[in-house]
Amino acid sequence: MSGEGLEAMRSKIPKWETELWSYISCGNGMSCPLYNHCRIRERGGCCPSDEREHLNQLLDETQYNPHSFDFIRSECGCGGPGRVFQLVEMLAQQCLKLGKAHYPPVPTGLVKIFDQQHTIEIRQLPLKAYHGAIWRWKDRWVIQLKEGDSSATKRFTLFHEAFHILAHRRTTPVFSKVGSMVGRFNELLADEFATCILMPRECIEENWVKVRDLDRMAEIFDVPKSAICLRLRQLGLI
Ligand SMILES: [Zn+2]
Repeated sequence: MSGEGLEAMRSKIPKWETELWSYISCGNGMSCPLYNHCRIRERGGCCPSDEREHLNQLLDETQYNPHSFDFIRSECGCGGPGRVFQLVEMLAQQCLKLGKAHYPPVPTGLVKIFDQQHTIEIRQLPLKAYHGAIWRWKDRWVIQLKEGDSSATKRFTLFHEAFHILAHRRTTPVFSKVGSMVGRFNELLADEFATCILMPRECIEENWVKVRDLDRMAEIFDVPKSAICLRLRQLGLI
């Protein structure tokens, strides 16, 4: 499909996607805008936004320890993911569909569809404090990735940053604050987006039944072992 075709399809933003961007726009970026009336929390389930620091550390593959994932409860135990997370997963699924990425590993070239009117340039730099960053430079986006990271970590960072591009495009033109780019909660959503796009639910379930091996799964999906571990726990598979 031509670039124009894709944009035309996307210009008609589905209702659920508008719902997602409206939450992101009205929130402060730091905590979930639905936190106070979250049904999952009412049922005693856990909100990933309460465990953000933990989750972020877990994704650091250099610190990988399988037991540090024990605290994560599967979403099946608390009636599925919260609404905002559900919508982020739908967004990831939509991107996979538009980019015709049906099998793992998801190609990194998919990031092109996140903004077809502007070039998305990827630069590898010796970053110190972060794994990645995103800049809007004149007519292009620049995604910076930490040079020393493994290729699997870079892939995760790439899709994390790509989520910020989408959020920026969908929220900033309408709402003047830059809430879509900053804040702990938005970082969590970006991680969730990267998780869902690189490790689509059905694909993970299908492959896990066949291989039942973390290393092999990390290879198939070309993601850090820590990310696979997190996803499998989230889906209640381990
Ligand atoms: Zn981020």
